[in-house]
Amino acid sequence: MPHLFELPVPAIPVAGSDQFFPVRRIYCVGRNYVEHAQEMGFSGREPPFFFCKPADAIVNVAPGATVTIPYPPETANLHHEIELVVAIGKQGANIDEQDAGQYVFGYAVGLDMTRRDLQMALRKAGRPWELGKAYDQSAPIGPIHPAAQTSGIDAARIWIDVNGETRQDSSVSKLIWNVAETIAYLSRYVELHPGDLIYTGTPAGVGAVVTGDVMTGGIDGLGEIRVQVGAAHGA
Ligand code: MN
Repeated sequence: MPHLFELPVPAIPVAGSDQFFPVRRIYCVGRNYVEHAQEMGFSGREPPFFFCKPADAIVNVAPGATVTIPYPPETANLHHEIELVVAIGKQGANIDEQDAGQYVFGYAVGLDMTRRDLQMALRKAGRPWELGKAYDQSAPIGPIHPAAQTSGIDAARIWIDVNGETRQDSSVSKLIWNVAETIAYLSRYVELHPGDLIYTGTPAGVGAVVTGDVMTGGIDGLGEIRVQVGAAHGA
């Protein structure tokens, strides 16, 4: 039976290639750097937890380009969260930590843009964070670098500037749950598939951005992304 209409498959360019990585699901880890957990009011010593964004929340950011995302609706406190993103390339469940590397296709620099006021209000009410996190164009991302072409990502510098002023500046080595542990843990709860992305969490220093601000963020070895906050959605 033919589909009623076509749905585009969100996809991310693979660095150094003419191929695209199609996106199936986006998992995000909450509070995965100690200092960030503390700035959000927690001790930083809890098991990992996850939320999702829709696959079509991605916004591709080409190297050297400045991509504009709209200031999203229904918020007055839009926050940047710079994150290491892991791209899954192999199907698996109950993955052993020691084998987790085999499931990694590559890595990218990503932004987990967050309507913090909505997230906090929902959290306080004991409701899902969904509309604080999983909104349109909330996941800008750079090209995916195949793991075989990277080195030292587990201890790379991760940083973001807003209008040239440093806001977040840390090291991937400060992840509470590292990439292998995160893959092992998540794969106990859901089967991972090629096309899945894992946003691994953000270091301390999250803060607000407003229309006109330019965010430049990067991870050593994975390049930089540059994203400007545009006019309000619908304006
Ligand atoms: Mn995040």
